[in-house]
Amino acid sequence: MARYTDPVCRLCRAEGIKLFLKGERCNSNKCALTRRNYRPGQHGQARVKPTEYGIRLREKQKARRFYGIGERQFSGYYEVATRKVGVTGEALLQILEGRLDNVVVRLGFAASRPQARQMVKHGHFQLERNGIKRRVDIPSFRVRTGDVLTVAEGSKDFVKNIVAAGTAARVPNWLTADHEQLVGKVLSVPTREEIDSPIKEQLIVEYYSR
Ligand code: SF4
Repeated sequence: MARYTDPVCRLCRAEGIKLFLKGERCNSNKCALTRRNYRPGQHGQARVKPTEYGIRLREKQKARRFYGIGERQFSGYYEVATRKVGVTGEALLQILEGRLDNVVVRLGFAASRPQARQMVKHGHFQLERNGIKRRVDIPSFRVRTGDVLTVAEGSKDFVKNIVAAGTAARVPNWLTADHEQLVGKVLSVPTREEIDSPIKEQLIVEYYSR
């Protein structure tokens, strides 16, 4: 994936919603979207009527940017979702939510997805599955029901500081977190109601079905 290296607040302004890419700052009045709630660039304040295609494209881009995923990987996730039984849009969100970097944020062990991604890559977490515990340093790793996530011994102070800062959102019902012991567990696959994301998944399905 070609890594995006420009200021990330531009992404929020382009999509017109908070994507929570900067942790603590996102909830403060320093948030760029709070200060300048219009699209970035010279013509950002111009009024543009989006096309039907444009609406669907933006929704797909919004989801990609919210979860921090490249174009090719995202369309791969969509392909997987279409092969699942049930509603494709919901299956897509379940796949996105099941990524390890997302789970780390949902558990409150990181303040944002970019931070979670980096922490996973740097080996701060271990995953226990079927009684076997191992270090996982792949942000896109897909968790399963019953998986237990722990923080590596040398990283506990660092993660404790993040938890203490309390910038993370409430832990959803499909996960459980022990913020003292720094242990998280996957209880189930999330239902749509349990997924707190600003994505209108039906528009993404329509985008790929065009
Ligand atoms: Fe987005 Fe956070 Fe920047 Fe606000 S501070 S624009 S929510 S990344």
